[in-house]
Amino acid sequence: MSGLQKSPWVIHYDASSCNGCDIEVLACLTPGFDVERFGIINTGNPKHADIFLVTGSVNEQNQSVVRTIYEQMPEPKVVVALGICACSGGIFRECYNVSGGIDTVIPVDVYMPGCAVRPEAIIDGVVQALGILEARRASMAASSTAAGVMMIQRATAADLPELLAVQKVSYASEAEIYGDTSLPAMRQSLAEMTADFGRMVFLKGVVNGKIVASIRGYDDGRGSAHILRLSVLPYFRGRGIGRRLIASIEKEFPKVSRYEIFTGHRSTVNINLYAKQGYKRFKAEPFNEQIEWVYMEKKSS
Ligand code: SF4
Repeated sequence: MSGLQKSPWVIHYDASSCNGCDIEVLACLTPGFDVERFGIINTGNPKHADIFLVTGSVNEQNQSVVRTIYEQMPEPKVVVALGICACSGGIFRECYNVSGGIDTVIPVDVYMPGCAVRPEAIIDGVVQALGILEARRASMAASSTAAGVMMIQRATAADLPELLAVQKVSYASEAEIYGDTSLPAMRQSLAEMTADFGRMVFLKGVVNGKIVASIRGYDDGRGSAHILRLSVLPYFRGRGIGRRLIASIEKEFPKVSRYEIFTGHRSTVNINLYAKQGYKRFKAEPFNEQIEWVYMEKKSS
């Protein structure tokens, strides 16, 4: 057991909570629960913190604060969403000024729902966070890769639940573009993803032991490789991760003569990314009343 596990320091931020969950966090510090007896210290300085406890949902006003606290914390670090508001937006999810749960801004490792979340659940969340923190510390110690650098690896069957979570968080912004949550990527079940895993190559992007991105593809046996479900967690976008994943999955199919990829007609970020990677639009097909799939292709070199 490392020092991190013996005495984790936590930082608590109230995003836009009703204060119900915050009172429960304070209860953990009072003599009734007294988490300090386990060495857990509540710090106000992100640079000293190992675990980020967030209550409430995010909105335009506080998302930059959430992101700044996260970025100021040293690696390895773990994020725990406390209460249903932090997990998904909760009862405020549909409010005009609420953009969703904490995972719309930063990657979340542990979800502890509840309204309000109970002190026992908060302690349980911190204990789960400790396991993740220790695994992440060990992975960083064993890896020659610098903290924060992404590695691309073949995914395994054990990764599928995490890959599905990354996919659903990633495609939430696509669903928002069309006002339609019936996108196949949003509705996919673990059983369906497991079936895909049996016939496709899955790649994962890993930062400090956590999956932050993925892509998959298959050879149709007629000279084409179909690439799909590019997923990057919102916090990790704009860093060239999508470009690297596309280049890596293409290399998995060295014998095909062409690659094919598709996205929605209003997904301009994706369309521009694929165009920069050499893909050209060759057909479009309606998916439903809101969405038209735009198919793009690229000859293999
Ligand atoms: S989960 Fe319930 S108690 Fe916690 S911030 Fe949301 S509404 Fe308040």
